[in-house]
Amino acid sequence: MNTVKLFRGKTRVCHVLVVPYPGRGHVNPMINLCKSLAAIKDDVLLTFVVTEEWFSFIKDDPKPNQIQFSTIPNIIPSELVREFDFPGFYEAVMTKMEAPFEQVLDQIQPPVTAIVADTELLWAVTAGNRRNIPVASLWTMSASVFTMFHSYDLIKNRCFQEHGKDYVDCVPGVSPLHVQELPSIFQGNDQRVLELALECISRLEKAQFLLLNTVYEIETLVINSIKEKYPFPVYSIGPAIPYPEIKVNVPKRQTDEVNYLQWLDSQTSNSVLYISLGSFLSVSKTQMEEIIAGVPKSGVRFLWVARGDNFRLIREICGNKGLVVPWCDQLRVLCHPSIGGFWTHCGWNSTLEALFVGVPLLTFPIFFDQPPNGKQIVEDWKVGWRVREMKEVNRVVTREEISELVLRFMDPENSEGKNIRRRARELKLSCQTAIARGGSAEANLESFINDITQCYGH
Ligand code: UDP
Repeated sequence: MNTVKLFRGKTRVCHVLVVPYPGRGHVNPMINLCKSLAAIKDDVLLTFVVTEEWFSFIKDDPKPNQIQFSTIPNIIPSELVREFDFPGFYEAVMTKMEAPFEQVLDQIQPPVTAIVADTELLWAVTAGNRRNIPVASLWTMSASVFTMFHSYDLIKNRCFQEHGKDYVDCVPGVSPLHVQELPSIFQGNDQRVLELALECISRLEKAQFLLLNTVYEIETLVINSIKEKYPFPVYSIGPAIPYPEIKVNVPKRQTDEVNYLQWLDSQTSNSVLYISLGSFLSVSKTQMEEIIAGVPKSGVRFLWVARGDNFRLIREICGNKGLVVPWCDQLRVLCHPSIGGFWTHCGWNSTLEALFVGVPLLTFPIFFDQPPNGKQIVEDWKVGWRVREMKEVNRVVTREEISELVLRFMDPENSEGKNIRRRARELKLSCQTAIARGGSAEANLESFINDITQCYGH
């Protein structure tokens, strides 16, 4: 991009260096945040720093001229390694990205006036502090999960040890939850990841802003409790999802063989179950076999995102009952009138997208923040059902159970189903209000951009 032309006549340009954690669930909300900021102020330059691998994934996506990319070397040979060695990948992010990022920070022109960095980049706040550049930390999970990490010692000492009970009721602003519904790394099997994640939260104290990718209206109590913890502004800016883009009729990357949007057009209203178990990490082989047999057995039509062996297996089994694709434009799919439900791994972005669209959920959380997200979906917001109770986390759910559940979930006449659909419509309204003129997200984004630009004469 020709920044000289774009900012001609300006003596001081507000130049924000933006750095996401290299994962789909982090890059997506960060780029969406940048697009929202760019839409509010057209004279802010945002440089998005990504690994070469991530650059190759996102370089062709539409973006405004004020956003430019800068690349740093890959931290691991291939993103695929992440699936098999998450702790190794997490550690590499915490240790290997810092030096190349600082090089960009020191060399890029015009000079950087603010940094927006993922909270899960251990080194980012320190890098800004050393140069006297304000840092806004973006937390890409729910506010409830943030508070769970922030309250880790309290949970460990009071709930785990003193009471020795199954339910945790000491997290400020969070309703009681089963221990299995805490972030999965609290269970102690990934000690190093836990230590690093906790350290990221503790370094946040030296940041100048905290941005939460959540919706004030759906996590009000917990957001208020986070605001009390910090002396600097805490802004909820969610849902950071690409809703402006779906209004424009250009679907992102389409798979070569099938036009899934055309297929959806040919289905009846609310009849299709959309299934996606996340952009990485899969369920056990035995469980997957049951899911793959159980869903088609229900007779419900489905659109399923799957990769590798699962893709092949589903295609063999599903016949003409459904469609399997390796990737889809998820938000656009969720917005399609044929979609009546979403079987999800409860990734936070998927959760926000479903809430925004008002689609009820079948929850199947696997890892990290997914168990607490699943709990909020089912217990707090009442917009979904569990495929499996969290306390039976290691039990394999059989194909018969799955088939019966899917059929009941998609039945328009089922009375419990009617309740979750009504709740989904209510939450949809809250999410859409948040991004409307004067809504919480819009107001907070505006306050934030004013905060970071005011000292540069804009
Ligand atoms: N996604 C997509 N198409 C797919 C699968 C995923 O667009 O076929 C997007 C989805 O809309 C979401 C993100 O990838 O924005 C996944 O983030 P999430 O937090 O839900 O899960 P993660 O993959 O990080 O566990």
